[in-house]
Amino acid sequence: MTVTRLGTVEALLTALSRDLPGDALTTGPEATAPYAADRSGSRPDGGPLAVVHAANAEHVRTTLRHAHALRVPVVPRGAGTGLSGGANAGPGTVVLDLSRMNRILDLEPHDQIAVVEPGVVTADLDRTAGEFGLRYAPDPASAAISTVGGNIATNAGGLRCAKYGVTRDAVLGLDVVLADGTPIRTGRRTVKGVTGYDLTALFTGSEGTLGVITAATLRLRPLPESTATVAAFFGTFAEGAEAVSALTAARLEPSMAELLDGPVLGAVDDTQGTDLRSRGGALLLLQCDGRAAATEAELAVRLLRGRVTSVETTSDPAEADRLLTARRLALPALERLGRVLIEDIAVPRTQLAAAVREIKAIAERHDVRIFTFAHAADGNLHPILVLDPDTVGIPDAAWQAAGDIFAAALRLGGTLTGEHGVGTLKRRWLADELGPEQHALQQRIKAAFDPHHILNPGKAL
Ligand SMILES: Cc1cc2nc3c(=O)[nH]c(=O)nc-3n(C[C@H](O)[C@H](O)[C@H](O)COP(=O)(O)OP(=O)(O)OC[C@H]3O[C@@H](n4cnc5c(N)ncnc54)[C@H](O)[C@@H]3O)c2cc1C
Repeated sequence: MTVTRLGTVEALLTALSRDLPGDALTTGPEATAPYAADRSGSRPDGGPLAVVHAANAEHVRTTLRHAHALRVPVVPRGAGTGLSGGANAGPGTVVLDLSRMNRILDLEPHDQIAVVEPGVVTADLDRTAGEFGLRYAPDPASAAISTVGGNIATNAGGLRCAKYGVTRDAVLGLDVVLADGTPIRTGRRTVKGVTGYDLTALFTGSEGTLGVITAATLRLRPLPESTATVAAFFGTFAEGAEAVSALTAARLEPSMAELLDGPVLGAVDDTQGTDLRSRGGALLLLQCDGRAAATEAELAVRLLRGRVTSVETTSDPAEADRLLTARRLALPALERLGRVLIEDIAVPRTQLAAAVREIKAIAERHDVRIFTFAHAADGNLHPILVLDPDTVGIPDAAWQAAGDIFAAALRLGGTLTGEHGVGTLKRRWLADELGPEQHALQQRIKAAFDPHHILNPGKAL
């Protein structure tokens, strides 16, 4: 008997509504439409056929077991804050929404470990760890809205990763449900351990294409005793970038170094009524933490003298928060100006200023508006193309500018994506970075985990 597509869909929905609780399954175009797209600005032609709101790992297993048997694609989803189209779910797909699995299962302050479900909001885990004098170090700027599962699946970076590393550095072990519904546990609760291949690292950053994360064992860190914040203005963005490279060369290890260009400052001023743009063509927000925070901040200020138009330092948390507001508001301020296409290249830290100059030249060459901010101590730049709000699709000039930005990143020894992932938006350039042999090997790895390509097909690879 040949199973028709329509018959397949009906069979899946029948099986899911039979085996899941009533409130776990949503169908119908209106109810499922909000799950079609993430925050990347890209959108498939139509929405998913159903959304499963998993409340526990058993719901995940049930969904994958049936979807695997019937060959229906499944798109795992945390909070949908991704910026590369990774959680986009088009027609014929089932979304597996993990946001209801939001319990912190265990927090062991002496081992400095937390075990959490994937839908825990990142900032909630950090806040809870704080009650024990600890922190969850990875802090994407979306920490207040993103989930830990989404952070692991994208190997998210953050402001503090300059000193504390990216999400991968905080993940010790994972509970994962494989494509056919089989549960496995990877890694361990120990800080060290090398038994077998490192599947924890492989799942981290795999963008929902190898398995669905249902729990994570995470490393916490002690809260620093003190923090000092420096705000430095420069004449130009390139001068700011050169200054950060000079700080790195002087072996300074700030916990945060965020650099914003003049147009971004102007956009923040327009929304906040501030006057940042009049104070310089770029702003560097630097934080040093730990016992030597004040000494390191003083050293930074000394190294920056002669390069800045002005510089101020504070150890007052309220004042630091005021300074950091500009960084937090950068993306929302740009989203008010038009449709944004957010790029995410990273270059060796000595190449930061060269990348800044390349981006400026690319904007002029293609006559597109590009605003840039950077996690500068990591060499991670976010050039943001701001398109006319009424533009339908992505215009050729924007694609060409994006292509030139990626080519420049690779030429400078860098990468297409520092932290947002490949998703759908960067797939066309992937082979340029991986090369044909590695690309083919990665496709074989995908096939070993998911032979019928039901897990987030068309993403990441
Ligand atoms: C204002 C703003 C600021 C941001 N700042 C940063 C930043 O500083 N650094 C940074 O790295 N990113 C940043 N992002 C991007 C985004 O927040 C991150 O990529 C985040 O990790 C996505 O988490 P999420 O829960 O929203 O995941 P989603 O967007 O729902 O999913 C992202 C990917 O993970 C997969 N996935 C989700 N959950 C699971 C799971 N349990 N198992 C398997 N796969 C899963 C999805 O299929 C998808 O491929 C920002 C976004 C916004 C809107």
